[in-house]
Amino acid sequence: MDLSLFKVSIPSMGIMGAVFAGGLAIASSKLAVEVDPRIEEIEEALPGANCGACGEPGCSSFAEAVVNGNAEINGCPVGGSEVADEIAEIMGVESGDSVRKIARLLCKGGKEETFNRSEYRGIESCKAANIAGSGNKSCVYGCLGFGDCEEVCSFDAIKMNENGLPEVNDDKCTGCRNCVEECPKDLFILVEEDQEVFIHCSSQSEGKDVKEVCKTGCIGCGICAQKCPVDAITVEDNLADIDYEECINCGACVEACPMGTIDTIETEAEETDEEFEAKDQGAATDNTEKEENEANEVEDDCSIYITDACVGCGVCVDECPVDAISGENGEVHNIDSEVCIECENCVGACPTEAIETE
Ligand code: SF4
Repeated sequence: MDLSLFKVSIPSMGIMGAVFAGGLAIASSKLAVEVDPRIEEIEEALPGANCGACGEPGCSSFAEAVVNGNAEINGCPVGGSEVADEIAEIMGVESGDSVRKIARLLCKGGKEETFNRSEYRGIESCKAANIAGSGNKSCVYGCLGFGDCEEVCSFDAIKMNENGLPEVNDDKCTGCRNCVEECPKDLFILVEEDQEVFIHCSSQSEGKDVKEVCKTGCIGCGICAQKCPVDAITVEDNLADIDYEECINCGACVEACPMGTIDTIETEAEETDEEFEAKDQGAATDNTEKEENEANEVEDDCSIYITDACVGCGVCVDECPVDAISGENGEVHNIDSEVCIECENCVGACPTEAIETE
């Protein structure tokens, strides 16, 4: 073997390696991108959940976005005000107020309040059931109850209860939006935690159709809007909506709603972790069911009556959300006092002012 080859090639390789290493070192120092040390500091201050609730793919991107001015310093809902304060200190600014948001369900119609219009034998998933003809539930707007939201919740904040509806544990909910994105019926929204009154329905069906498919859906009667002392409620597409800029959380609408569709969030938020877990095991023994049933009761009689001034035009029949008025064309109409919910829609609609209240 000719050893002279090694004598030449090894030193040459060494020299070439040294030249390339030197070149890379120079290029590295010349082309180096400065990394703002605050990004790392902020990342360390964040909870590291990588949940995406801030709107960024993860904590690292959020930290970068804050430093680059593309995200608010109080944009991490999981960390809340404590983390916002830390980030503010790193950034040398005021933290401002960080309002925590929690998930709320736009449905209250579980197994007891609704029924199945057909038998579903497909995959046990809300998404799959929704593809198969919008699911088999009587109300096409309602929760399908297979618990895709529970599955996707990274914080164990959602449990399906015995009534087939998801319940949110306010203490555990971080407002990460996983349930919002997952629900095929778009039934979750995020609300600020100080909002205490909420309308648990998304149905846009007419009142009489709602009553046929759900015991607790919004029938768009507008009683809540009438009773609201600050005009914070409007009814559009047969569905009541609360303007939280105006709402004073007085609860007048909760009392007034004949369907029990409106709840106070405060009541739900008082539920302890233990009760929440107990519900998951089917062991809840509180009075919730009794209270709900009481709230759902529709009054048996009403204080509204039709006088002889009625010309039988039928305008009131069309206005009544619960089909409580009937009568022949041209003849004095009648109100079924057991069905009437006293929304007074007919009173305002009657062109001859023939409908009065006691
Ligand atoms: S809220 Fe939506 S995802 Fe959750 S169980 Fe109901 S339909 Fe399924």
